[in-house]
Amino acid sequence: MRNFVRVAVGCAVVALGMVGDAAAQQGGKPVKLEVDLREAARRVYHAKMEFAVKAGPFTLVYPKWIPGEHAPNGPIVDVTGVRFFANGSEVRWRRDPGDVYAFGCEVPAGVEVLDVQMDYLLPQDPVGANVPSASAQVAVLPWNLVVFYPKDVKSDDVKFSAKLRIPAGWKFATALPVTKESSDGIEFETVSLTTLVDSPVLAGAYMKTYDLSPGQKPEHRMNVAADSAAMAEATPEEIRAWRQLVVETGALFGARHYRRYDFLLAVTDHLQVNGLEHHESSDNRVPERTLHDADTAETMMDLLPHEFFHSWNGKYRRPAGLSTPNYQEPMRDELLWIYEGLTQYYGVVLAARSGAWKPEAFHEYLAATFARLDARPGRTWRDLEDTAISSQLLYSAREAGSTWRRPVDYYEESELVWLDADTLIREKTAGKKSLDDFCRAFHGGESGAPKLIPYTLDDVVARLNAIAPYDWKKFFEERIHSHGPGAPLEGLKRSGWKIAFNATPNEHVKSEEEAGHVFNAEFSLGFAVHAAGLDNADEVGEVVWGSPAAKAGMAAGMKLVAVSGRKWSPDILREAIRAAKDSKEAIELLVENNEFYQTVKVDWHEGERYPHLEKIAGAADVLGEIAKMKAAAVK
Ligand SMILES: [Zn+2]
Repeated sequence: MRNFVRVAVGCAVVALGMVGDAAAQQGGKPVKLEVDLREAARRVYHAKMEFAVKAGPFTLVYPKWIPGEHAPNGPIVDVTGVRFFANGSEVRWRRDPGDVYAFGCEVPAGVEVLDVQMDYLLPQDPVGANVPSASAQVAVLPWNLVVFYPKDVKSDDVKFSAKLRIPAGWKFATALPVTKESSDGIEFETVSLTTLVDSPVLAGAYMKTYDLSPGQKPEHRMNVAADSAAMAEATPEEIRAWRQLVVETGALFGARHYRRYDFLLAVTDHLQVNGLEHHESSDNRVPERTLHDADTAETMMDLLPHEFFHSWNGKYRRPAGLSTPNYQEPMRDELLWIYEGLTQYYGVVLAARSGAWKPEAFHEYLAATFARLDARPGRTWRDLEDTAISSQLLYSAREAGSTWRRPVDYYEESELVWLDADTLIREKTAGKKSLDDFCRAFHGGESGAPKLIPYTLDDVVARLNAIAPYDWKKFFEERIHSHGPGAPLEGLKRSGWKIAFNATPNEHVKSEEEAGHVFNAEFSLGFAVHAAGLDNADEVGEVVWGSPAAKAGMAAGMKLVAVSGRKWSPDILREAIRAAKDSKEAIELLVENNEFYQTVKVDWHEGERYPHLEKIAGAADVLGEIAKMKAAAVK
């Protein structure tokens, strides 16, 4: 998954000692599943299942811990219309009072098939962990939304034969192999529940598919579904960068663990921005104008490289604690700073290597990200590892208070941790080796169909030691347990660069402002504020803990009304920040807090302030070396 808190501003798999009954109930017969998306625009998916059963107690469960989401957030609240039938007669079910995801029943004597039906209700706007997956013109089907499976079986052991109906005239894309397509529906190859849940479907009225590795095996396809034909059209430059991304991963890993790779890209303002990784595909959801607006594209630049990198790091190789036998077994999130953190680092590095980000844009992104981390006081009480362990709480935490609570920092702060490791390997081996060698050794191996090889921290440490001998265990422990002050910027320094502030706007921040309709003064006063014309117009976002605005009494959720007695606008606030630079007077802001007006005086006299990367005099440009294209340039 990719974290979008900022943008919004706004092996051996452990055997469980399972009860054999449930698996035996199934008798090796696949579950027949029929899903109907024809009412997607009405925000309901219908599903029917047929389970082979024998007489006696039988329990079905709904997926709770969703791979890649790292949290027990299977949206059970919107599972409705649940009915069980045997030979046409309704069978009473009872939910387990100790587990609301489990539905038990007593299969009557002589019954061999249990028919189950359900409706899944999709929200139109995000509600807690439940997010929209369908709009008027686009639908995404993560199969876990519409399946039950027998309790206590391994998801590898239970097989599903799925059939899907989509609205007339719509097209679809998925990594799941299709066996038959007719006016009656799409039939898929019988696969394990693991593969089914790992292979979502993207469907839509306006879809366009781009071949990203013409004439080569395995195939790579970019499937775009949009709210109009025009918005699904990519520019030649975008297609070139996607193709370069494919060859860059070939150069990096030397192996691919999929039969074909499908990027599923929904470009619509009616689903929530997100990305979810799978072995042979990724479910990416971005704003409608992403392929046509430079500022929106800028804020989404690392999403596709991030989710693609996960096919190797997260899917093929996965922390043992996240390699659970089914979707009810709790996950252990403590190594997310590798699963998500290494992916976050290479997501941005590959965005640069593929040419999607020019060097200046890459620098501006890093400067903004690292400056934010460096100013985040939450590190003083909560270490990086705890943000990973707490991820099941933090993904749904509100933005307000995030600089003190800490958000899911194992994404961005791990960019620093892995940049540190990368530059250290380069230093210790006089430039002969790099973190790329670790990726090739750890995530490469043999190409072929999807497979999962779990790992522990010791495995990572051992592999790094084989590349460049060092006390890597201590290296990581110091970084994941650090309390600062400030972010761990050693790697940035070793890469030849440092953060410097001046009054010139940071280009990445500017794109975020344009795309998100905010005015951002977080590096000066300490807050961003939503611009006019939005539902949350004038609302102040997170106020950086300890910043001049926080000290003056401002908090997230207040509304900015006026600056020095005049109705606020971005230009007026900017002018006030400039004017205060040569003055001893505080910047006077009128804010609304619930129904009460309050004047706050922000003591800030350093003018506008934005971060940039500045080359350290005389140092080698290691960062430039890291970001350089490694494969031959595609045409
Ligand atoms: Zn991720």
